[in-house]
Amino acid sequence: MIARCDISPDQELTIDYATHTGVESWSMVCHCDTLLCRRVVTGHDWRLSRLQAAYGTHWTPPLLERITGGPPHQPPAPPRAG
Ligand SMILES: [Zn+2]
Repeated sequence: MIARCDISPDQELTIDYATHTGVESWSMVCHCDTLLCRRVVTGHDWRLSRLQAAYGTHWTPPLLERITGGPPHQPPAPPRAG
């Protein structure tokens, strides 16, 4: 995980579960009561363009692949021995 801002030692951390699941049948009611709360987080929230814009590449690799239409960046393979 990567923080999107500096974190102070006593700060409560939150995460948008939508960045981690694409299971279409999954959903949960959110009680965070922030102004940006969607009230229900679902397995198809990754399709929301405003979330894609807000989170950039900060999605789990399978969801990022769905969003970008291609595989996530892979580091180059190490050279073969021999
Ligand atoms: Zn919420």
